[in-house]
Amino acid sequence: DLLVVGSANADLVIGVDRRPAAGETVLGSDLATHPGGKGANQAVAAARLGARTALLARVGDDAHGRLLGDSLRAAGVDTAGILTGGAPTGVALITVDPSGDNSIVVSPGANSRLSPADVRAAGSLFRAARVVSAQLEIPLETVVETVRSLAPGSRFVLNPSPPRPLPAEVLAACDPLIVNEHEARVVLGDLAGPEPEDWARELLALGPRSVVVTLGARGALVADADGTARIPAVRVAAVDTTGAGDAFTAALAWRLGLGEPPAVAAAYAARVGAAAVTKEGAQVSFPTAEEVDAL
Ligand code: ADP
Repeated sequence: DLLVVGSANADLVIGVDRRPAAGETVLGSDLATHPGGKGANQAVAAARLGARTALLARVGDDAHGRLLGDSLRAAGVDTAGILTGGAPTGVALITVDPSGDNSIVVSPGANSRLSPADVRAAGSLFRAARVVSAQLEIPLETVVETVRSLAPGSRFVLNPSPPRPLPAEVLAACDPLIVNEHEARVVLGDLAGPEPEDWARELLALGPRSVVVTLGARGALVADADGTARIPAVRVAAVDTTGAGDAFTAALAWRLGLGEPPAVAAAYAARVGAAAVTKEGAQVSFPTAEEVDAL
C-alpha cells in the first residue's frame, strides 16, 4: 500500500482581466473551487492509477474539508487518516489573468496543525505501507516524525515542495528525493553545474539513497550509487502543467513499491506526468491506468 503524508487544500480560482495592484479592487469570473494540495493530489493520482492508497492529512471542520473528503473517497483513497479540526481547511486563493499568469495566497490552515503526535497515532497506516510519500506543505517536524515512523522495509519518497534546506536525517531516508530544478537549487543552496547530472551528483552527496530530477517537457533523470539514467519525456500537446509533478511522484512511489527498478518506474511515471499535462486542472487531469496504457 501507498501512504501519502501531506497537505489538503481547497483551491479557490478567479479569472481576472488584470491582477489587482495594492489598494485596488477588480471584478473577476465566477469562483471555481477545486480540491488540491500536494498531499491530496498525490493520493488521488495514485488511487486513480489503481494503487491502494491512504492519506494522512488534516482539514478543518468546514465545507472545504468535506469537499476534500468527498473527492478523495470518489477517487478510492482510504480516508481513515484524514483528521479534522484545529484550524480551517488550508486554502489557496488564486487569481489568473488571460495570459495564464497567476497570483496565489496560501493559508496553510489545518495543514500547519498536522503534528508529530498525529503521525505517531497513525501506526496502523505506517505498518500497512510499503511506500510512504511526503511533501513540505506540512510542518517539517511532522516530516521528521514520518521518517522516524517508517515500518521496517518500507520506503520513503520525498518531493521537497515548497523547497527548503533539509535536515540530514530526512535526506538520508529519501529513496528517492524527487526535485525539479527550482527545488534542487534550494535544497543544495546553489547549483554548482549546468547539467541535471551535476545537480543529481551533488544531491546524492547530501545522503539520499537515490535522486530523481524532473525536467518538465525534457523528461527526468534517475540517479543512485549505480549511476544515472535519462528518462525521455513522452511527447504530448501540453494544455496545463498543474499537478504534473504530483502525478509523476505518486506514480513513481507506487511503481517502486511494486518492486520495479527505478528507471522502469520513472518511465511509467513520465507517462503519467505527460497524461496529466494534456488536460486542464490538477486532480481532474490525472489519468487512469487505461489512459496511461493508451498514451
Ligand atoms: P513540477 O510540476 O514538479 O515542476 P515537472 O514539470 O518536471 O514537475 O513534471 C513532472 C514530470 O511530468 C516530468 O518529469 C515529465 O516526465 C512530465 N511532464 C511534465 N511536463 C511535460 C510536458 N510538457 N510534456 C511531457 N511530459 C511532461
